[in-house]
Amino acid sequence: MARRKYVVGNWKMNGLAASIDEARAIFDGARAYGAIDVALCPPFTLVAAMATATPEGAVGGQDCHSAASGAYTGSVSAPMLADAGAALVIVGHSERREGFGESDADVRAKAEAALAAGLAVILCVGEPRGVRESGGAIDYVLAQVAGSLPAEFDPARLAIAYEPIWAIGTGLVPTVGDVAAMHGAIRAQLDAQVGADAAAAMRLLYGGSVNGDNAAELLGAGDVDGALVGGASLTAEKFLPIVAAA
Ligand code: PGA
Repeated sequence: MARRKYVVGNWKMNGLAASIDEARAIFDGARAYGAIDVALCPPFTLVAAMATATPEGAVGGQDCHSAASGAYTGSVSAPMLADAGAALVIVGHSERREGFGESDADVRAKAEAALAAGLAVILCVGEPRGVRESGGAIDYVLAQVAGSLPAEFDPARLAIAYEPIWAIGTGLVPTVGDVAAMHGAIRAQLDAQVGADAAAAMRLLYGGSVNGDNAAELLGAGDVDGALVGGASLTAEKFLPIVAAA
């Protein structure tokens, strides 16, 4: 089964109202690559405005709460994101797992809430530097996949993003061989966990210092179906070459 390539921008805590123009430029430019699915995940404050301004583009959140509503000051729920026009949400980013103490069980609950709200999900996993250096990266990431994946889901609506923590925002990237080995291991585990058909339909993204210069090589690695891009997703000038490379 052919999996469509998927390139997703994670704006993190960047972007003001004026940045909607950049999102428009990105989605306009991406139209030239109709075979590639492109999405942008701005901060919560811009989701509704961006979704309205770029009706042809897929806009998402960067996190959601696992509850639909309630006394959770500062949080945003999956139904709220859907209501604001979001089509997807990132869950389990390492900056949430590490900075906000999110466990695999928390990430799984968020993914389930997002799917229930009709959103597509990008579920992030990835090892810290010490784990990579000690040779335990694959075991570490497979445990995250096992613990974070919802029990039941539509494989077309859940992508996994492998983002080694030491590669995020550092300019460091794994070798193509290491990316292919990790993605192959994830695919094999999905095969065992959710069955061959679902595993074959799921998209596996690589994330961590992807840019216009390295995208073709990283996205060409075995079992890589696209990229989750941070810093290089903030402008059309930097992001569109990555979409082109996909
Ligand atoms: P980066 O971030 O592309 O800036 O390394 C990727 C991410 O954290 O999603």
